[in-house]
Amino acid sequence: MQDETLLLHTEIDDLPFPALTPVVHRASTIVFPTVAAFLARQEQFYDGYSYGLYGHPASRHLAQNIAALEGGARTLVTPSGMASITVVNLAVLHAGDHVLLPDPVYAPARAAADRFLSGIGVTASYYDPAIAGGIEQVLRPTTKLVWVESPASFTMEVQDLPAIVKAAHGHGALVAVDGTWASPLGLKALRHGADFAVQALSKHVGGHSDLLLGSVTVASEELYRRLKDTSKHLGLGAAPDDCFLAQRGLGTLATRLERQTASALKIAQWLARHPEVERILYPLLSGDPGHALWRRDFLGGSGVFSVLLKPRGDGDLASFLEHLRLFRIGASWGGLHSLVAPVRLDSARSVRPWPKGGPLIRFSIGLEHPDDLMTDIEEGLARYAGGRKAAAE
Ligand SMILES: *Cc1c(COP(=O)(O)O)cnc(C)c1O
Repeated sequence: MQDETLLLHTEIDDLPFPALTPVVHRASTIVFPTVAAFLARQEQFYDGYSYGLYGHPASRHLAQNIAALEGGARTLVTPSGMASITVVNLAVLHAGDHVLLPDPVYAPARAAADRFLSGIGVTASYYDPAIAGGIEQVLRPTTKLVWVESPASFTMEVQDLPAIVKAAHGHGALVAVDGTWASPLGLKALRHGADFAVQALSKHVGGHSDLLLGSVTVASEELYRRLKDTSKHLGLGAAPDDCFLAQRGLGTLATRLERQTASALKIAQWLARHPEVERILYPLLSGDPGHALWRRDFLGGSGVFSVLLKPRGDGDLASFLEHLRLFRIGASWGGLHSLVAPVRLDSARSVRPWPKGGPLIRFSIGLEHPDDLMTDIEEGLARYAGGRKAAAE
């Protein structure tokens, strides 16, 4: 079955109310018919139902569907993308271990590595996202985990996943991939040999900016059990209503991504020729440094890209962004509504500093008509350019 079909035709609970949609059970407590069943409830921990925190029909159903899309065996659903990242870290890393992260990694993941993992004796270091097989040189005997985030959240740098996997596995390290930008439709990280495929379901899968959830998908039952145990120790569960909403989001994921990607491509190609624009960062464009890797390893794109503007004053950037009529200023992406986020990378990178220049802004293209979005940006860029002309006079 193709992904688009899989998204809609999944097994749901066989209840005596034959709807197309799954039931949401909101429950902390599960009751048991016998003393023996109650005392043996731990046996239900990994696959069945023992307590609301450890799984309920909506979380199991969502997990099965994400596992199928990722091409994995098992999926753990967590309360946020960040919780998924933390569960992977804590399931793999112990005192004395080393973890490698790409320089442009999702900023809260970097903060967690520097300020939280260091406190439990784990050392983190960063690598150039263009490193590919050269990661050999920075792997240490104590490296237990290598993170890949591709493309990077703001700079859209695409990483050579198969080359990194090969080197990491050669050193006995596991590889975790944050594939949120492309969703499981656009990047099947496990097929490229990754051990953990991580998604912030809050973004494209939820798709409506109204929920927080994450997932981790693995190819082996053993890794799944390690993740599940870790999430239990941390007291993490996924809310039934959020799981239901994410499940509903899956049904339109392919259609939304197709439309958002087509609109983003149209807008990015138009912007690339705009006089106020220095460069577009979007692997779908043939001139992008990540284009060849994206074509080789990805099955699709998304409507998220960044734009490097020609340098002007900060005030001009504010008047560009604050007076947009359709784009709202916000940090997330993948929802129905278009968003724009100004980016400061000055202190965010340690391996390969971002060159000084004009401001970087990230767009998440929603489902509005692309022509209306272009008009909005056009007017905004005129305000931006107006500030420059005023300064020159
Ligand atoms: C948003 C995001 C996360 C975190 O997801 P939350 O659900 O907001 O915690 C992790 N990685 C990437 C690439 C993201 O964009």
